[in-house]
Amino acid sequence: MKNPPKSFATKLIHAGEPRIDGAVRLPVFQTAMFEYDGDDPRGARYIRYFNNPNQIALSDKLAALEGAEAGLVTGSGMAAISATLLTLLRPGDHFLALDCLYGGTHDLVTGTLENLGITHTFITGDRPETWPQMLRQNTKAVYVDTITNPLLRVSDHDALIALCKDNGLTSVIDNTFASPVLYRPAEAGYDLSLHSMTKYINGHSDVVAGAILGGTEAITAIRHTLYNLGSALDPHAAFLVNRGVNTLALRVRHQGDSALKIARFLEAHPKIERVIHPGLASHPDHALARKHLDGFGAMITFEVTGGLKAAKTFMAALDIPIMAPSLGGPETLMTRPAITSHAGLTSEARRGLGISDGLIRCSIGLEDADDLIEDFTQALR
Ligand SMILES: *Cc1c(COP(=O)(O)O)cnc(C)c1O
Repeated sequence: MKNPPKSFATKLIHAGEPRIDGAVRLPVFQTAMFEYDGDDPRGARYIRYFNNPNQIALSDKLAALEGAEAGLVTGSGMAAISATLLTLLRPGDHFLALDCLYGGTHDLVTGTLENLGITHTFITGDRPETWPQMLRQNTKAVYVDTITNPLLRVSDHDALIALCKDNGLTSVIDNTFASPVLYRPAEAGYDLSLHSMTKYINGHSDVVAGAILGGTEAITAIRHTLYNLGSALDPHAAFLVNRGVNTLALRVRHQGDSALKIARFLEAHPKIERVIHPGLASHPDHALARKHLDGFGAMITFEVTGGLKAAKTFMAALDIPIMAPSLGGPETLMTRPAITSHAGLTSEARRGLGISDGLIRCSIGLEDADDLIEDFTQALR
């Protein structure tokens, strides 16, 4: 294209595409290295240096989608998260982190980073008045998830961005649950946006991948960390993710519409104890979700009346949903956080967080919403 595409839908298809040799689809450059006899040791093209054409096309497209200057595509979401925090923080540094982080991130923060002498204080996302008193002399960054797992809480993102700008802190957000369709962190004012592309961005449950999007300077520093940690995305995986991205907006909007319909159905059902979905007026962060997000996502968390036993009976009676971890795929997926993401906690600790043993987390897929409702109805019966 002669001019960079402006609208989100056009960027999904055309941004970052080099159109090499007139190929309509960028072929897979499945080569570890390219010919090089220059003097710059990092001038060589090598998969671990993030300069393979498939990696560049995908990271340029993602950066364009979120309005970021630059990006990197990594071998997993956790590689993106760990490399980012290990670049921003040194032993002796402190940072603020959301109190309900993704399980893997929670383990990184309370395990690996603590062991390195990097400390944190957990903050509550919807209580900005409590944040300034948690800042210390050595506080360097704030780390949050756009929508949390599994209770789907939405923080006051504008207040978080303002806190970081006022105090010279680097703001980092894991935007996996929202995807760039619902939230574009760089446009909103976040310094760095991270993704597990394993979820909505790839969207087909067949690749594990991550992304880091942000300013050129920060991305250059993280790239250097990653040269050493060694977690660049393989070209074939980058090709698959780039193919998945074409339908990102269609998928996320369709899944979100279905999720809202199913959440309303569940909320009205006599055998359902509680339903958590940011699109419901009953959700504690419904107003924040309306303010910050272009939609409410396709995750629903709920409890069947009758606790753990009823949850197990219900899940066994379902026909369409697949019982498996992860989210954002074409198929509806269900898990119980008590035995997946929050299995490391005691039952009491989970209950303190609002995660009962019978709590069910559901990622609505691309099936017909009415088929899912019919299946839920017979299973609840
Ligand atoms: C899955 C997930 C991750 C980890 O991603 P991997 O690709 O499995 O490494 C990080 N954050 C969130 C919010 C996730 O859902």
